[in-house]
Amino acid sequence: MTQSNRQARRAWAAVWRKHLKRGTLYHVEVHHDPECAIYMLNGCCNCDPYRVLKDAKGCVLGSVEGLGAWDPLEMAEDLL
Ligand SMILES: [Zn+2]
Repeated sequence: MTQSNRQARRAWAAVWRKHLKRGTLYHVEVHHDPECAIYMLNGCCNCDPYRVLKDAKGCVLGSVEGLGAWDPLEMAEDLL
């Protein structure tokens, strides 16, 4: 994991800590590269998607890029 990747993870976790409230609905948008393997059958993300956290009304709370490939469990890990 590169230095910038670690900084991006910290920045993303900070966005969550700042906004997360129990019982509140959030949307996480993951913007993959059009070439990303996740769009292939049985493919896993191999790009560096741009993550956006939005509240239930669709207002952007924060966004981050440079986190590296997307893992479906990454939010669960950050919140445990
Ligand atoms: Zn991807």
